[in-house]
Amino acid sequence: MANSPWQKRIRRAEHLAAQHPFAAEILGFYIQVARFQQTLYQRIDRTATKKSPVSLSDLAESPELLISFPAFLSVVEEKAPARFAQVVHALRNLPSDSWSDLLNRSWSETDNPPDAPEEFLAFAFLQPYAEFVRSGAPLQLNGYTHPLCPFCNRKPSIAVLRPQGDGARRNLVCGFCLCEWEFRRLVCAGCGLEDQAKLPVYTADQFPHMRVECCDACHTYIKAVDLTKNGLADPLVDDLASVPLDLWAQEHGYAKLHPNLLGF
Ligand SMILES: [Zn+2]
Ligand SMILES: [Zn+2]
Repeated sequence: MANSPWQKRIRRAEHLAAQHPFAAEILGFYIQVARFQQTLYQRIDRTATKKSPVSLSDLAESPELLISFPAFLSVVEEKAPARFAQVVHALRNLPSDSWSDLLNRSWSETDNPPDAPEEFLAFAFLQPYAEFVRSGAPLQLNGYTHPLCPFCNRKPSIAVLRPQGDGARRNLVCGFCLCEWEFRRLVCAGCGLEDQAKLPVYTADQFPHMRVECCDACHTYIKAVDLTKNGLADPLVDDLASVPLDLWAQEHGYAKLHPNLLGF
C-alpha cells in the first residue's frame, strides 16, 4: 500500500506541516487519523462482501466497524487537540449501544453536517467505510448537475479545479464518501446563484493554489484547490492546511458549506 491514497495524503500532510507551522498540530492529528483509516479500510475490504449495489443501510451489518471504534478512540485520545480529547474520554465511558447510535446517526444524517466534536469523530471514523461502500456502487455521473453528493447526498466539503483543455473544470468533492463530480464553475454550490457579481473569489499569497469561493446571496463559501497551479496538492489535505482562509472567510460573515473531516 506504499502508494495508496492514504499514503499519498500522509506524505502531502507531512510536507505541508513542515511548510506551515501553524497547521502542524492539525496535520499531525490528521496523519494519525489517516493511518487508522487506511488500516480500517483494508480490514473492511477483507471482511465485507462487496455486494452490488451495496446499500447505505449496511452499517448495521458491519460488526467489524463497531469492534474497531475503541481503537480509533485510542488514536484520537493520544494525538487529538484538546476539544476532541475531552469528548473521547466521555465516549469511552459510554456503553457500546451509544456508540452504534452515534455512528448510525452520523451515517444517515445527510442534511445536517456534523457540528459537535463527537459527530466529527464519528464522521472521521466512518469515512473509510463510506468510501468503501461508494466504490462498490454503480454511480452514473454523466449529466449529473446537482450540488449534492450523488452517492450520499451530503453537501460538498471542497471544490477542485482540474486541468481541461486550456482551462480548468470545477469538480465538487464529498468529504465523506470522497465522491467527485463536475459542477459548473460560476454557480454557487449552496444556493444555485449564477450572478457573477455576487460570487466573489478570494485568494491569498500564502496559498497561491487555493481559492475561497463565496456567495453574497446565501453567505456560504467553499474552498477550491486549483490543481492547474499545483498538481501536487491534495483536496483533503490542502484544505486542512489552509485553515487561515477559513478563519478569514468566517470573520467576513461566510459559513462553510460543509466542514471538513476535522471540523473546520
Ligand atoms: Zn458523498
Ligand atoms: Zn449561494
